[in-house]
Amino acid sequence: MPIKPVTGEPPIPVDSADDVAVIVEHLARGDRDPRWLGDHFAFLAGTRPEWFRPYQERVVAELLDRFEAAFDDQLLLFAGAPDDSVEVLARRLRDGEELHDVLALAAIGTEAARTAIAEAVRGGADRAVYEDTGIWIPTTGPAEYRFSTERRAVFLELGDFPDADHPVGLPIDRVVTGASSPVVWHYLSLGLAEVPGLPAWPTGHAHLVAPASIGHWTLFAEPAPDGRYHGEQVVDDDPDDFVDAPEFGRGRVVLRPYGADLVYCNGHVHLTPGLVGTAGGPPIGLYPNPSCPSCKRLMFHTITVSSTVREYGDGPRSLYLCEECRTVAVTATGWN
Ligand SMILES: [Zn+2]
Repeated sequence: MPIKPVTGEPPIPVDSADDVAVIVEHLARGDRDPRWLGDHFAFLAGTRPEWFRPYQERVVAELLDRFEAAFDDQLLLFAGAPDDSVEVLARRLRDGEELHDVLALAAIGTEAARTAIAEAVRGGADRAVYEDTGIWIPTTGPAEYRFSTERRAVFLELGDFPDADHPVGLPIDRVVTGASSPVVWHYLSLGLAEVPGLPAWPTGHAHLVAPASIGHWTLFAEPAPDGRYHGEQVVDDDPDDFVDAPEFGRGRVVLRPYGADLVYCNGHVHLTPGLVGTAGGPPIGLYPNPSCPSCKRLMFHTITVSSTVREYGDGPRSLYLCEECRTVAVTATGWN
């Protein structure tokens, strides 16, 4: 069974639209642990999110306070919810901000919902709570998603793959131009065209790389015409006595759609064997997302993987773009 509830209790099937009615009924009665239900909703988001559509309005109106789903799953479950739901949420937010209302409104994604977010923030609501989910509020107009709602599960395969679309463990001189670059480690390169909804990127690939640091850091760089980075700047550096291991952990990642072959537990899919992260989808939301050093716009999230993709440091590694300024940012954070 791909649903592995974090509570340890056995799951129930989510194989038909009727099964969805059963889990929503449990939510309404409040007779099951919200986390147990949450892993069923995560599976639903990863397999047949359209089956949730008939329940969007009711869950927003009546059941949101015990609806436990991660934001990336809510994006699929609440996508396109009716304007009545937007009005319910906007009204509640005017009466006092609750995180579950913020996330549901952020997840709907319609112009009405994105306009309501922009109006709330311009009216004094907390901008950071939206930016932490990857949503940018420009000076005018609706809020913007700075991520693709399409997700791909990222799997690691070790070995020699000279023509890999998404190589892991390239020599440093393949990914940076300067001999004095602060970059010492290559996790992976992402071919951006394979994830629907990512911005057009002139060099095709962006590189997830690291400086000699095991702490929290952000690295900004610009791609040269051949795709290699130059002008690297490292922020919040916590320097490390780095020892190179050029042959270690070389391979590739492959991207697969979400589906019933992943393991859904505790609101994520990280227990799936071989899975190292997610391409597309929103940023993980545990830490502030980078803003473009040039234009200050929130940068576009492309992929987040665990440092275990090619072991160096410890924690999530994320890659962001500013498609206007052609700037990349890589961030490293610890596990919570
Ligand atoms: Zn920019």
